[in-house]
Amino acid sequence: MVGDTIWEFRSPRSKFGPGSFNELGAEMKRMRCEKPFVITTRGWVRRGIIDRLKEILGTEVPYWDGVEPEPSAESVEEAAKAFKESNADCLIAIGGGSALDTAKIANLLATYGGSVRDYIAPPYGQGKPVPGPVKPMIAVPTTAGTGSEVTSVAVVTLKAENVKVGISSDYLRPSLALLDPELTLTVPPKVTADTGMDALTHAVEAYIAKPYWAREKPEDPLKRPVYVGSYSVTESLAEKAIELVGKYLRRAVYWGKTDLEARSGMLLASYLAGLAFGNSGVGLAHAASYPLGGRFKVTHGEAVGILLPAVLEYNAPANYEKAKKVGELLSGTECPEKDPQKCAEWAANVIRALQKDIKFTPGLEVVGVTEEDIIEMAEETMKQKRLLATNPRPVDVDGVIWVYKRSMR
Ligand code: NAD
Repeated sequence: MVGDTIWEFRSPRSKFGPGSFNELGAEMKRMRCEKPFVITTRGWVRRGIIDRLKEILGTEVPYWDGVEPEPSAESVEEAAKAFKESNADCLIAIGGGSALDTAKIANLLATYGGSVRDYIAPPYGQGKPVPGPVKPMIAVPTTAGTGSEVTSVAVVTLKAENVKVGISSDYLRPSLALLDPELTLTVPPKVTADTGMDALTHAVEAYIAKPYWAREKPEDPLKRPVYVGSYSVTESLAEKAIELVGKYLRRAVYWGKTDLEARSGMLLASYLAGLAFGNSGVGLAHAASYPLGGRFKVTHGEAVGILLPAVLEYNAPANYEKAKKVGELLSGTECPEKDPQKCAEWAANVIRALQKDIKFTPGLEVVGVTEEDIIEMAEETMKQKRLLATNPRPVDVDGVIWVYKRSMR
């Protein structure tokens, strides 16, 4: 794939490093952000973030702290109302993926009006495109997993239908990603494990994503199709992210309160994986996680991570070399087998071993999924056409059922 494609890499300006949060004031000046508004969680207010902001910026900053984990559409609309009423000229989101996604959609609704459902694809909403630019947003991630600080996607939960849905637009990508690993030192071990698996799933799915040309605006014949799927740049980012997860996730789970090197390694992994999947797409693990997220009490990272080993095995025939490489990067060792299929199974087992070490949720059964749920969930997975389009091996209902069954325990 060198020399025969035109690709476009999309990313916000980024600043990374321990203590980089202290440079928020300088960054705001650079962006001409004079009247900021903060969207964050109660947890962060309890941990003193508002006082810290006052110290850094030398002034009080208005804020809204109602972010819900895996945020509902209602909570996002509340955030939008607060942001609009503040008359602020820029937005600072501080928290995990839930806070960053809440802020992205709040920014959209505060700028153009309407409700969350206006922008969600049918059958759940109207599927209106995001009309244009929103206010400048600084994303400060405090978990190492979603990569939302660099992506154009925001995910919300629709409580009435028990489903999670996304709104995607280049206009939603934050203007600046400000990544300070010190802010992740307080993440509890279970959240560290779940979000770490999210980062790994992004990296693996981006790495193996099927390349194809997609017409962004099918109605406009003059608009050149865009290249989606993995290519040189996203492959390099994904490889590095997988290696970092292998090196640092165990340490971050066990000694995360003090091990700043491990936290930095994981935040970098999450960021690189976000850049990779934000440009190349994801696949079956994400498509099959959506029906889980609404119905069962699982976090996003848990849902995709539980499915990841079986998804890697399912997809291996599309590219045995890449499946093997995932295991080698993650373990830092060569595959001990000669047979390509055995190496793919070995790679999936490398992921399973890591999950065991970090006490990750061992399977779908534990979160309440029964054999009876599987067919309905598989049919729902098949509706995730956008996500399945980049899956390297064609997917049918039987394939999804195989993945769910293999992920039960
Ligand atoms: P989260 O934001 O829900 O955070 C998990 C928990 O950890 C929360 O209780 C939160 O308050 C707490 N927390 C966050 N940072 C902390 C810290 N430093 N110290 C202590 N506690 C902390 O979890 P997440 O996995 O980061 O985000 C999940 C959401 O992101 C889901 O809705 C998921 O669908 C979405 N997501 C979005 C994208 C994207 O590109 N936009 C990608 C993947 C996932």
